[in-house]
Amino acid sequence: MKRTVIKIDENRCNGCGQCVEGCHEGALQIIESKARMISYLYCDGLGACIGQCPLNAIELEEKEVEPYSEYAVMKRLVDKGEATIIAHLLHLKQHNEQEYFEQGLNYLNEHRIAINMSKLQDSKRTIQKPQSSSCPGSMAMQFNAKQNSNVDAAEISSQLRQWPVQLHLLSPQAGYLRNADLVLAADCTAYAYGNFHNRFIKDNIVAIACPKLDSDKQVYVEKLTEMIDEAGIRSLNVVIMQVPCCSGLFQLAFMAAERAKKKFQSEKQ
Ligand code: SF4
Ligand code: SF4
Repeated sequence: MKRTVIKIDENRCNGCGQCVEGCHEGALQIIESKARMISYLYCDGLGACIGQCPLNAIELEEKEVEPYSEYAVMKRLVDKGEATIIAHLLHLKQHNEQEYFEQGLNYLNEHRIAINMSKLQDSKRTIQKPQSSSCPGSMAMQFNAKQNSNVDAAEISSQLRQWPVQLHLLSPQAGYLRNADLVLAADCTAYAYGNFHNRFIKDNIVAIACPKLDSDKQVYVEKLTEMIDEAGIRSLNVVIMQVPCCSGLFQLAFMAAERAKKKFQSEKQ
């Protein structure tokens, strides 16, 4: 089946092994000083390893591979102990992979493996400090809001020029996309960056999505490809948070740009 998995650039990889540690599923191993995928059966394609790599050697790609098997993953995982099992299940839960999550629990039930179920209550709505193995994007933090005496926040007007903004709801046929400069932003970014409207929305069309919690990400790739080829958008800029899971949005945009017939020049800031 065709699905999203990871691709390792062997020329960049120096065999440091950080991605192997970040992959609870056991899909990666260092072999002859390079990180290698041992079987796509174990790769859920959620990209937890991407942010672990200091050399940007890992990216997502669409590929004809065998289906992911939660049972096969669990079979390898149980020997690593309860903490790893829980980290893996929480990771599935945080990414809305309900079906795999339930398959994982079924495996544990069938094999009479007991874990502390209360540790799985860290749902996406109850954000707690993660274990070292959970996604850092879920870590609870508190900030002091900076007061800027020169700017009255109430006077900042919206720069939004279109509706809807959710990528799932945007139609590639919408007239406002024609020759538009499209900004694809991770959901959290507009809340995290105070000047988001002026810096990223002004004069642009905006689409928002969450690479971590949204399902059906393949639809995003197809839709973005249509926007490039059929709506003829002029440029596509991606705004993400500095957490590993968020880089999945950049990867989706990159995959769409690669699939599209019209080519953009790629640039990372
Ligand atoms: S995408 Fe997930 S399962 Fe696949 S290699 Fe990376 S961490 Fe492992
Ligand atoms: S983290 Fe990156 S550089 Fe290190 S082994 Fe994995 S792919 Fe190679």
